[in-house]
Amino acid sequence: MCENSGVKTTATTTAPAAVAPETKTDAFTDPRLNREWTTLAAMIEINCRDRHGTTAAQCAECRELLDYARRRLERCRFGAEKPTCARCPVHCYQRTRREQVKAVMRYAGPRMVWQHPVMSLRHWLDGFRPTPKI
Ligand code: SF4
Ligand SMILES: [Zn+2]
Repeated sequence: MCENSGVKTTATTTAPAAVAPETKTDAFTDPRLNREWTTLAAMIEINCRDRHGTTAAQCAECRELLDYARRRLERCRFGAEKPTCARCPVHCYQRTRREQVKAVMRYAGPRMVWQHPVMSLRHWLDGFRPTPKI
């Protein structure tokens, strides 16, 4: 309590719980980038639901991965001309993040065919995009 102001205040010593930042889910205006984003988000969601037992939202670990991937996509040097990240000559992901995404794709990739067939087909077709010169 603050004795000088005459106003009762309550000091709290409890540290706030660590919460992963809210994932930005806005659509990209460019269709190519948006396709990449929705595909990645769907794969992470499948992985999280099946392997981490989540139902409504991703666990903190997967939200962090999604946030990271979102930032990479926003800053992708190839923009709308980007290849799939698997065929990228730059590979801007940190090594550990890259391993995480590869593990997600190994698990969720085959399941995407049944759960999101159109998205899956379009991602497969994106794999034939030319690799940009650097
Ligand atoms: S890995 Fe390549 S294609 Fe993927 S976001 Fe990074 S720079 Fe762009
Ligand atoms: Zn998860």
